[in-house]
Amino acid sequence: DRSICSPLPVLGKDVTVPLVTGGEVTYAALDYAASAPALQRVWDDVAAYAPYYGSVHRGAGYLSQLSTDLFENSRKAVAEFLGCRAGDQVIFTRSTTDSLNLLAAAVPADCQVFVYETEHHASLLPWRDARVTYLNAPRTPAQAVETLERALAGRDSSPSSQLRSSRGGPIGPALVCVTGASNVTGELWPVKELAAVAHAHGARIVLDAAQLAPHHPVDIDELDVDWVAFSGHKLYAPFGSGVLAGRSDWLQDAEPYLAGGGASRKVARRADGGVDVEWHSTAARHEAGSPNVIGVYSIASACKALTEAGFDRLVAREQQLVTRVREGLAEVPQVKVLSLFGDDAPRVGVISFVVEGWNSSHFAAALSAEYGIGVRDGLFCAHPLVRTLLGSDPQDPGECGAPEAEPGERSLNAIRVSFGAGTPDEHIERFVRAVK
Ligand code: PMP
Repeated sequence: DRSICSPLPVLGKDVTVPLVTGGEVTYAALDYAASAPALQRVWDDVAAYAPYYGSVHRGAGYLSQLSTDLFENSRKAVAEFLGCRAGDQVIFTRSTTDSLNLLAAAVPADCQVFVYETEHHASLLPWRDARVTYLNAPRTPAQAVETLERALAGRDSSPSSQLRSSRGGPIGPALVCVTGASNVTGELWPVKELAAVAHAHGARIVLDAAQLAPHHPVDIDELDVDWVAFSGHKLYAPFGSGVLAGRSDWLQDAEPYLAGGGASRKVARRADGGVDVEWHSTAARHEAGSPNVIGVYSIASACKALTEAGFDRLVAREQQLVTRVREGLAEVPQVKVLSLFGDDAPRVGVISFVVEGWNSSHFAAALSAEYGIGVRDGLFCAHPLVRTLLGSDPQDPGECGAPEAEPGERSLNAIRVSFGAGTPDEHIERFVRAVK
């Protein structure tokens, strides 16, 4: 099929690991949802640039100018990758967690935040100072839209909103935070529909694209979301860099996320002995300190590599692998695949499951020790969601990690297999064979 491409070359594809059964095999990295292997192309780009790097925005020398250009061109490449609108800002951060914490620090003081209980902790937890409404887990995409509609309509008709609007004032800012693709089930959320509902009620919406961006083109304009956050290390770049892209107004008005050089335009002593600061109103406002140039350049390189490979062709291939895994797992009666939206829901290459009679941590350890396959077990930093999916109490504050479940008992955690643009067919076949 010519619409489908080969896996993209990634680092580590030839690493061999010992097996407890004797001998060794090449490592099958099937934990892309945690961190994907870096593309060879990204590594090559970084290696070609590394001897020339210099300070960014801070030096008059040739290499400083070169690095500054590279840094700012990386910003443009990311803006292009995300389909940013005129006026949108691309802010470089450390990760999705950092991006969402930055936005949380920038929302207006009276902002009401709406977030589903099913979110990853990175989108569930940063809103500490805001008024947060946690939305119950929906069991279909349509229910997700209805739940939000009801919550926002409830806000519109709340006594405080009515009081404000009867005085001719706006009812106050609101923000919806939602994931594009679940890091547990891989299921796609109805982002465009949720954005339309949010905007119809005067709310804004931020998309946690940590799991969507590596598996699916994300177009901020087409989805009509206000912000997008994602991490480099899940998008085939190395660790340490992330992105928050979108509307500039709340960000420009907020106190800088970090105070320091680079964020400040003018600093002067006052007559009373204090210090006056004029902060930048560009992305630099939230990027104080010397930036992670290599990390930023890597993200831009990964964005270009995905676009040049033909993202649609990568998606088509990944969907074949999703089908193969699902069919393989369906042949094992003891396996239960976790799903919020049902078997037919569209999903990316992230699949969690439990195996009857098995402790999930032991199962994952056996995949590693006996087959050289690296998956993840646990609650995947989405405790309420995984507890809902496992039929345990979502309010139970139990521990993350590897709780013991005896054979025959209900699992307290799950196994997650995840893959993407660098995954060869052999890894998927080995995984299916191993589970069987
Ligand atoms: N959101 C989702 C959906 C994720 O899967 C993750 C990472 N597992 C994050 C946010 C946080 O990403 P990071 O650890 O790179 O900050």
